[in-house]
Amino acid sequence: MMTEERALFIIFGGSGDLAQRKLYPALYGLYFQGRLAKHFAVIGTARRPWTDDHYHEVVKQSLVGAPGSAHQKTEFAEHFYYQSHDVTDAAHYVTLQKLASKLNLQYQLDGNRIFYMAMAPRFFATIAEHVKSEQLLSPDGYNRLIVEKPFGRDYASAKQLNDDISQAFSEEQIYRIDHYLGKEMVQDIMPLRFTNPFLENVWSNQFIDNIQITLAEDIGVEERAGYYETAGALRDMVQNHIFQIIAMLTMEKPSRYDATAIHEAKRAVLAAIKPYTPAQVHTNFVRGQYVGGDNLGLSYREEDNIAADSTVETYVAGRVDIDNDRWRGVPIYLRTGKKMPAKTSRIDIVFKPTKDNILPTTGNAPVRANVVTLIIEPDTGMHITLNGKEIGVSDAVSPFTLDHALDKDELAKAPEAYQRLLLNILEGNKLTFTHWDELAASWHFIDAVRNVWDNDKADGLAFYPSETMGPKQADELLSRDHRTWIWQGK
Ligand code: NAD
Repeated sequence: MMTEERALFIIFGGSGDLAQRKLYPALYGLYFQGRLAKHFAVIGTARRPWTDDHYHEVVKQSLVGAPGSAHQKTEFAEHFYYQSHDVTDAAHYVTLQKLASKLNLQYQLDGNRIFYMAMAPRFFATIAEHVKSEQLLSPDGYNRLIVEKPFGRDYASAKQLNDDISQAFSEEQIYRIDHYLGKEMVQDIMPLRFTNPFLENVWSNQFIDNIQITLAEDIGVEERAGYYETAGALRDMVQNHIFQIIAMLTMEKPSRYDATAIHEAKRAVLAAIKPYTPAQVHTNFVRGQYVGGDNLGLSYREEDNIAADSTVETYVAGRVDIDNDRWRGVPIYLRTGKKMPAKTSRIDIVFKPTKDNILPTTGNAPVRANVVTLIIEPDTGMHITLNGKEIGVSDAVSPFTLDHALDKDELAKAPEAYQRLLLNILEGNKLTFTHWDELAASWHFIDAVRNVWDNDKADGLAFYPSETMGPKQADELLSRDHRTWIWQGK
């Protein structure tokens, strides 16, 4: 039996892109599933002077292509209330408070409130301050705050942001979204690691040689130029998504399957990744920027709203080491970039080759190492490379691959990442959200790299042709360790 959740959503930035493209369809998905039914309401706030009727139209417009009848969508949209709002005006929060109390009674919401910051982070402090001073927090039920990325642009600003929202909300009440944690194969890391002894028992430096994490995009900067120029690939992808993946892959087994235990395990392993000295940054991190050409489109520096001498990196590769007993000696190689040959997010766990092989191989080649690959996207699934006998009279050993693709129909039916995250928030399940301690640790590491690059300016920025695997220095990062990247493109 699906239980119906009761809550009031207050969305700051209700007319924005995130709200319309992600949040309204996700809320509707929960409604369509029956997890939201009679007892929910949404207040959207933004600057524009919209009426409720207009807001309903906007909400319905965001549901084009969603399943269900027009009647269902209209009923859903009628739960939405719009309030024109200037985040700096205290009087608006008083009006908001009154509307929230009224809707709480009208829809019997049990005093549960979810505050969603769907606005630029510079407003968060003001909003949190007013939420507290104008008593928008519900005295009964729960109060939960949802915060989007980017969470700061370095440790200092992240800490400031965290202090700001902490005026009104406790760590327990804060849900920091990293939508990568909502992805199917990232969620699969724990079951794979902790319910399969044949993986669990070899998950250490005794058997694993190295780990490779690739988050490749085939697109360029597109419409995100303004933001990207102030961020770059390191902040945009490594600090959050890649560090969260590293934590999930390498944490010790949590003592229980709950958010507190998992956050503790993640915190501990991230604390074992020591920030690099400048010399170590130069040795272990590579940055690049894409260059276009015939049939390759524009160079990054030629794109709209990008500085002609921009040194912002569109590609990062690096080596990270974990200083603990389980992982000492196992490099984690990471890379992410724009304008790579294909869009793919994958994790390759490369095992040590078999010792003292006695079996024949074709041409006396070394026996291939086992590789466990998790494909996060686009072809969600995993494969494992093993060795077996060649078919026929030959007794030579040759590698083969076990493929497991998640069922496409089931996947198509599975909720979008945002829908799942919203459901987790309604259920008070913080498993798929980022704890402040994890963020702090990753920012300390990222800042050390960033500071060196900021000082170096253009020095060391490698240019790579679009539709390639990035600068050759990224290959050298592995070849100097006598290794190669497992994923070589399409
Ligand atoms: P947006 O610019 O489309 O929307 C901003 C919203 O804030 C609008 O509703 C606007 O009316 C409102 N607003 C701005 N100034 C205001 C003021 N002074 N008073 C009241 N309302 C005001 O932005 P977005 O793309 O929806 O992003 C919102 C947040 O979510 C940002 O922090 C962004 O980094 C993050 N985010 C967005 C996406 C996405 O897909 N759009 C993805 C990940 C994270």
